[in-house]
Amino acid sequence: MKTLVLMFAVVLLLGIDGSHDVVAQSGDKHEMIRKMLDEVSPERIETNLMKLVSFHTRHTGSDTVSDTRGIGAARRWIFSEMQKYSAESGGRLQVSYHRYVQEPARRIPVATEIVNVIATLPGTQPESTERLYVVSGHYDSICGDQRDIECFAPGATDDASGTVAVMELARVMSKYEFDATIIFMTVAGEEQGLFGAHKWAQDAVDNNWDVHGMITNDIIGSSVADDGSVHPNKVRLFAAGVPPLRENSTFVQSYLRTGGENDMPIRQLARHIKEVGERYVDGMTVDMVYRQDRYLRGGDHMAFVQRGFAAVRFSEPNEDYRHQHAHVREEEGVQYGDLPEFVDFDYIARVARVNGAALSTLAFAPASPDNVKMGLRGLTNDTVLNWDANTEPDLAGYRVVWRETTSPVWQWSRDVGNVTETRMEGLSKDNFLFGVQAVDQDGFTSPAVYPLP
Ligand SMILES: [Zn+2]
Repeated sequence: MKTLVLMFAVVLLLGIDGSHDVVAQSGDKHEMIRKMLDEVSPERIETNLMKLVSFHTRHTGSDTVSDTRGIGAARRWIFSEMQKYSAESGGRLQVSYHRYVQEPARRIPVATEIVNVIATLPGTQPESTERLYVVSGHYDSICGDQRDIECFAPGATDDASGTVAVMELARVMSKYEFDATIIFMTVAGEEQGLFGAHKWAQDAVDNNWDVHGMITNDIIGSSVADDGSVHPNKVRLFAAGVPPLRENSTFVQSYLRTGGENDMPIRQLARHIKEVGERYVDGMTVDMVYRQDRYLRGGDHMAFVQRGFAAVRFSEPNEDYRHQHAHVREEEGVQYGDLPEFVDFDYIARVARVNGAALSTLAFAPASPDNVKMGLRGLTNDTVLNWDANTEPDLAGYRVVWRETTSPVWQWSRDVGNVTETRMEGLSKDNFLFGVQAVDQDGFTSPAVYPLP
């Protein structure tokens, strides 16, 4: 079935482009993604996770001098591993520290240096290299008392799991080239208030970095629920909706006016991730959750969401709170603590592959079209859409997607050619939600854009 869909897409693209090279190239890149995702290694994920646990604690306020204990040792180790991947990539992966001193604040009792480890894989298409996709995990950990900087805080699922997924993606993906830039980020200070992520996201705003999507992986270590049931092929993807502000910005109002509250950029990104994650990672289901995060919890994506970036969060399907933010102890025969014995390394690998599918397709695809508008000249039961032309040289054309207003995901699509306006005859804008995607010559599509009135 999937092969048929792909073949159909290729035939459509032939119609647009007329070149037979496109077909060969198309197969190559999609096969390349599958091959790349196969290289994600559960064994390496296990080795790396056990190494992170071995630092005893990675509390943001813990020892920074020791080479074997505390957050300093942990980040230097992550940095040195990323440098190895960089060497394997011929130096294309660029590894750096991103650091600042956080003055005392709530949950930061003394001035503390917050250090993120950043590995950047620059895009190779000049028109796309400024377009950034970020994937993150937080390497800091806590035990049952978030102020305790000495206690054993293995942080195996929270969030060594996300950290090693990001590291493994950096290792595997940096051997390949993508059009847009991918940033593999492991951050600190999450447990005290997302400090590392806030700093990077603010730097992105201040420097006009063009962040088109951000995915955080936080608590992706276990497929086992607290009732013992196992869900190895599911992952939750948290995707925020309308910002919870007292007054809506004009940007938000423009969506709300026509029922587009479910079609802002974050949810468009989530739909893209679900679609490609399930397409490229056999058997995996990405369960979108249409809310920012779980009750009483937060994550590094929120630092990006607050600044207007499209950012989402992956988490395991059912959390076991005995294994998070808990002192390592046994009580009445029950083992508490965020220990590696509760981690499923194959599961982390599968979630990493979903991330890899999302990042690679986003970074191969053109940018989402700009300035997508719903034509409103007169009353009609057709739908007229227009948008600005993309600039990528490998652009093939555009695809219109649509769905019933109550459907969470796209139901239909039509390739409309390399045009900047189209009329969808007999499809009333009153009855469906529409989106426009840019499509490249290999069949990679951008996340959809909602047509504003
Ligand atoms: Zn966490």
